[in-house]
Amino acid sequence: MGHAIIVGAGVAGLASAIALRRIGWTVQMQDRAAGLPEGGTALGMWPEAMRALDRLGVGDRIRSEATLSRGARILDPRGDVIGRVPQSRRAHLISRGRLLSALMSQLSDGDVRWSDPLDLDDTLPDADLVVGADGIHSGVRSRVWSTAAERPLGTVAFRGIVDLPVASVTETWGRGALFGITPTDDGRTNWFACVRRERLGGARNDPLTDLRAVFGTWHAGIVDVLDHLEYDDIDRRDLSDVSFRHPYVQGRVALVGDAAHAMAPNLGRGACESLLDAVALADAIEGRRDVSAGLARYDRERRARTRRTVTAARIINRVATTDRATGLRDRAMILLSSRR
Ligand SMILES: Cc1cc2nc3c(=O)[nH]c(=O)nc-3n(C[C@H](O)[C@H](O)[C@H](O)COP(=O)(O)OP(=O)(O)OC[C@H]3O[C@@H](n4cnc5c(N)ncnc54)[C@H](O)[C@@H]3O)c2cc1C
Repeated sequence: MGHAIIVGAGVAGLASAIALRRIGWTVQMQDRAAGLPEGGTALGMWPEAMRALDRLGVGDRIRSEATLSRGARILDPRGDVIGRVPQSRRAHLISRGRLLSALMSQLSDGDVRWSDPLDLDDTLPDADLVVGADGIHSGVRSRVWSTAAERPLGTVAFRGIVDLPVASVTETWGRGALFGITPTDDGRTNWFACVRRERLGGARNDPLTDLRAVFGTWHAGIVDVLDHLEYDDIDRRDLSDVSFRHPYVQGRVALVGDAAHAMAPNLGRGACESLLDAVALADAIEGRRDVSAGLARYDRERRARTRRTVTAARIINRVATTDRATGLRDRAMILLSSRR
């Protein structure tokens, strides 16, 4: 058994800590944040992520706290249906805060040193395994691989929660922008928008002004959400993904989660893949005296699959927010849906 240091206590870091503990390793985590964030917008957990959560001992808790969504409709800005995700595609929608606290319930308070950033001039900690779970701008990745990996997507994401009930999941695709609506686990509306940067012009307006300018004439379901928005509740960020051609492991260091494969949010898979990384990492090194052979197996199992997902998410981000030939895109969507 070995000792692991995990940099980052988000979804990937906490899940890795639980998985490593379960195979008998000792674990210490450090995070630059002061503590676990509360609340947060909804994350969709697909069936394979639910299986990983079962392995981590929290699947039933997530099932009991989450909202189960079945399928989704893709609309055009008038509200007409242009595509459908079949009802058989089920996802448990859970707020980030609830997911993190469920994971944390499997660990002890002392397992995470909060307010303890890994600074750029720090040397990497000494351990049998160092796990870089420090997100899209990973310091572990840039220190060990010395390569710039973040790649702008050319889109800006806005997201938040409003006090409105909503029954179903929709995503509305227009020219240069999309707007998604899902129920939350506490009966409110989780919303997210993605807008091509050039549609926002040069000036940096407040997010509410930008959202009203882009979506103010879209269908009533969206206008209703806009009418309930408060300026302070809007998270706005330029989107990037991680283009990383190297193995996810080097020596005794392994990358998990967004540090390895941050992706456009359009497939709703980043946190799910982080959970799968954690379980795969522990499975790969379990019972091995030679940790590096186990790490090589982890890389073989996870790299090709997650690289494909990063590419697919990037393509969907581009297609869903294209500002050209949107009529053609929408007709193709209708045809594809009618073939199911
Ligand atoms: C708009 C949007 C919607 C999304 N929707 C979904 C969805 O529906 N389903 C889904 O599966 N995924 C979704 N995702 C993706 C998901 O949020 C991420 O993939 C997931 O949070 C990645 O987890 P992580 O632990 O790798 O990184 P993070 O959540 O970024 O955690 C990294 C942790 O590392 C810490 N850290 C960073 N730097 C340092 C340092 N130098 N020293 C110490 N600690 C450090 C941070 O404080 C943080 O706690 C969405 C993303 C966005 C932007």
